[in-house]
Amino acid sequence: MTPEEFRQAGHALIDWIADYRADLEQRPVRAQVKPGEIRANFPRQAPEEAAGATQLLQDLESKIVPGITQVQHPMHYGWFPSNASLASALGDIASAGLGTLGISWESCPAATELEEVVCDWLRQLTGLSEAWQGCIQDTASTSCLTALLLARERASNFSQNRGGLQGQQQALLVYTTEEAHSSVVKAALLAGFGEHNLRRVEMDPDTRAMCVSSLAQLVAGDIEAGFIPAAVVASTGSTGVTAFDPIAEIAAITAQHGIWLHVDAAMAGSAMLLPECRHLWEGVEAADSIAWNPHKWMGTILDCSLLYVRDVQHMVRVMSTNPSYLRSTVDDEVKQYRDWGIPLGRRFRALKLWYHLGIDGIDSIRARLRRDLDNARWFAGQVSQTENWQVLAPVKLQTVCIRHQPTGLEGDALDKHTLAWVNAINQSGEAFMSPSILDGRWMVRVSIGVEATTREHVETLWKLIQRRAQDVAAVD
Ligand SMILES: *Cc1c(COP(=O)(O)O)cnc(C)c1O
Repeated sequence: MTPEEFRQAGHALIDWIADYRADLEQRPVRAQVKPGEIRANFPRQAPEEAAGATQLLQDLESKIVPGITQVQHPMHYGWFPSNASLASALGDIASAGLGTLGISWESCPAATELEEVVCDWLRQLTGLSEAWQGCIQDTASTSCLTALLLARERASNFSQNRGGLQGQQQALLVYTTEEAHSSVVKAALLAGFGEHNLRRVEMDPDTRAMCVSSLAQLVAGDIEAGFIPAAVVASTGSTGVTAFDPIAEIAAITAQHGIWLHVDAAMAGSAMLLPECRHLWEGVEAADSIAWNPHKWMGTILDCSLLYVRDVQHMVRVMSTNPSYLRSTVDDEVKQYRDWGIPLGRRFRALKLWYHLGIDGIDSIRARLRRDLDNARWFAGQVSQTENWQVLAPVKLQTVCIRHQPTGLEGDALDKHTLAWVNAINQSGEAFMSPSILDGRWMVRVSIGVEATTREHVETLWKLIQRRAQDVAAVD
């Protein structure tokens, strides 16, 4: 493809995307396809002949779009918001078009330095001190794995330079709660700690926040028994019920024992753009690493996860291999982001953050977050005021956990009822929510915060939920 051909096809694609986004609300929220249905649209062998850009655009519409669950749809309330602001999409398109290579400062000085700039902007916008330096990772899962590798090497005094974890006499331990995201467990396993060395600290039964006295007891007992507590992963806004672990109190314990404290704020980090929410991670300055995803609620298109650390030297010492072909004469003056994580080749992700902030602006982003908080409070109010409906966990941000419990319905029958009404809605394509298990029973998470979701949409959802729950109760 020549640049001229790209210009033509590109204009057509941008026009198509603009129409697609404008008409999104007409489409079903959840993809209405069965497993294998999309795959069957394509030949088993790679095509011998090129189809051309016009044909591909038609195929995009007819063969791909039916297999997309519309997470930008205003009636999407599933999982967590995964906003892809059009401003940030432009930045991502710029990144693709520039075709840069990020393996060293030298390979693209602009990619490194704009990343420094936007990470520092976001640091300031979320009220973090100058002690933090950040980088952009693909996901919070990678950020957590990176943090646990740093913790492992600190607690083992650089075991990687000897026999690794296999050469350790004493087991290294990681502490978190059942409420922590599955990626925390995955990171601990991948970092080599092992399931037996993963401690689930007790939680407050109502808020599901980590119980600090239990953490203190566990740590003391483990040290006594000859183990090495290496890391605590605390949740700032868990996925299940948006639980907030008490960071300040946890940090008092980790500081005392030299334990690495990683704060997983993947979702709730966006809320820290609002000064009135920052009490939710009070004490965060005493952590060792923080990760949050602009690619969730804030709306910088996936993939964009920020990882901040205080001890950059430690990060580089763990992550740097510095092969000769990557060395340069300016190494002392520049950042080498390959030493801030796992990949060597990095995308120019800073562009989408820059575009997002530069076009939408922080004021409009903040206003939208406040709108969503307000909508969640309104919705929770409606649910809790209605007979037989319950809000099951404190509503700290924009996710509301609910259940409909008609009189006399309990146990498995209640589970069946919950799944019946939520699945009826999800299958219809009218709206989408994630059912989830809380204390062994199904409930429904209503996660408000898609860019396009207004109060009217939330009102429509509440009517829809009540109607479907009545319908299925009638046949239970
Ligand atoms: C979404 C989420 C994650 C995982 O995020 P990825 O970027 O998809 O890896 C981790 N922790 C919490 C609390 C989350 O909400």
